[in-house]
Amino acid sequence: MTENRSLYADGDQYFFTGDIPVNDIVLKYGAPVYVYDFSRIKTQYDKINNAFNTDRLRINYACKANTNINVLKYLKTLGSGLDTVSIQEVQLGLMAGYSPEEILYTPNCVSMAELREAVRLQVSINLDNLSVLEQFGDEFPDYPICIRINPHIMGGGNHKISTGHIDSKFGISIHQIPHIQRIIKAHGMNVTGLHMHTGSDILDVETFLLGADLLLEVALQFKNLEYIDFGSGFKVPYKEGDVSTDMNLLGAKFMERFNSFCTQYGKELEIVFEPGKYLVSESGYFLASVNVIKQTTSTVFAGLDTGLNHLIRPMLYGSHHDIINVSRVDGPTRLYTIVGYICETDTFGVNRRIKEIREGDILAFSNSGAYCFSMSSNYNSRYRPAEVAIVNGQHHLIRERENMDDLLSKQIQVPNL
Ligand SMILES: *Cc1c(COP(=O)(O)O)cnc(C)c1O
Repeated sequence: MTENRSLYADGDQYFFTGDIPVNDIVLKYGAPVYVYDFSRIKTQYDKINNAFNTDRLRINYACKANTNINVLKYLKTLGSGLDTVSIQEVQLGLMAGYSPEEILYTPNCVSMAELREAVRLQVSINLDNLSVLEQFGDEFPDYPICIRINPHIMGGGNHKISTGHIDSKFGISIHQIPHIQRIIKAHGMNVTGLHMHTGSDILDVETFLLGADLLLEVALQFKNLEYIDFGSGFKVPYKEGDVSTDMNLLGAKFMERFNSFCTQYGKELEIVFEPGKYLVSESGYFLASVNVIKQTTSTVFAGLDTGLNHLIRPMLYGSHHDIINVSRVDGPTRLYTIVGYICETDTFGVNRRIKEIREGDILAFSNSGAYCFSMSSNYNSRYRPAEVAIVNGQHHLIRERENMDDLLSKQIQVPNL
């Protein structure tokens, strides 16, 4: 599907990067299991770095995509900073070895208590609400802040993941700049960063640049800026024929604008991007075994030993994950509807053309590195799966499969029930 695949067939078997047979992973760690090829994360990181080609670029990994601490640590070795959306992600980042100044905390609708904790931890803070800006200014007038602006452009592959539109709960409207300025002035606050993030899956470079232009115009009205954060929304291909954000085109066009902005501003500012999906989506494969084949009057179902509890994106967003039968390289393909074992309709894919599936086969879901494990749950009292990382050609277990103790660990039994 894309260049540099982490999963490939050779002879009669499928392998992960480093010539690791998929079967070895399943035999050793069981299924269902998430497998991440860390070298693919580096490829993606390098693509952004090379496209922008400036030492003023900072890439902050948006870690809600995948919060396994090993992913955080690996991105740190590449030179990444961190974009966090909860105080727990901030804490994970610090545990993973990021320094406070490498962490930007971009919360939405959180309590003042969380913001106080972020101040205590000395991380950079991005505020996206006028009322919160005022309260923050009352308590911490000297703490440098970033402000999240909503430019009201329609980014995002679908409404649920689009955050920049007019009804969005994110950011302070670009039409409220005078109000922001009044609050800043009244409290003597120091705005060192401006931010926008218009949603996932930006479809074309022009939409992105439109937002960037609007933000740069606003930036001219803030005199103490050190950085401007243009968010993310970098697109990755999900299926044959999908386009990925044209990083080189974006980099070239963006730098042209940004450089002329800096001349006008009178200072070389730092550029921040905060990709999640772009960095980790394609590194991941989710492996699950087939429990049953069920032929109804109209459909052949393959029912898996997993469900929306482990991978909810297809049901939540209608997102497409390619599904490959990694137990069969050769042979005929047939049409299958792939479903889970949860007592809800949990359909992973309808009418997919897949190599003939037999019970016991292993299927691999592509694009499973972002928003997959991190959105998993224990629904139906199922255990969350294991996670495996391939680092420098070696596989490592990076999260154990859960067990009954995990399900019960926080439950307290009332005596004599
Ligand atoms: C989720 C999020 C991102 C990452 O979005 P992707 O589509 O995964 O790249 C970046 N910034 C903020 C503030 C986010 O909430």
